[in-house]
Amino acid sequence: MSYCTKSCPALLPEGSNYCHCTDCHLTFSGESSFDKHRRGSDGYTTSRHCLSPQEAGLVPYDKSIGIVYGKPRMTQETREKLFR
Ligand SMILES: [Zn+2]
Ligand SMILES: [Zn+2]
Repeated sequence: MSYCTKSCPALLPEGSNYCHCTDCHLTFSGESSFDKHRRGSDGYTTSRHCLSPQEAGLVPYDKSIGIVYGKPRMTQETREKLFR
């Protein structure tokens, strides 16, 4: 376990897939969810910044380490739209 910064209480279990953002100090369920909330990293814009989880389409999950943002689980309705 290691802390992000002295002022940030986020505990990051080692060897997990969780990605903690050192800018907005939110924890994400994995690299792909983390990437979704970062903007400006495509080489076309100069400043990297964070989107709110809502803007990035991520939802909070209550995990043992705290709130972790991840992709919403597919609902039956979404599934049907995708695989129709
Ligand atoms: Zn961030
Ligand atoms: Zn942090």
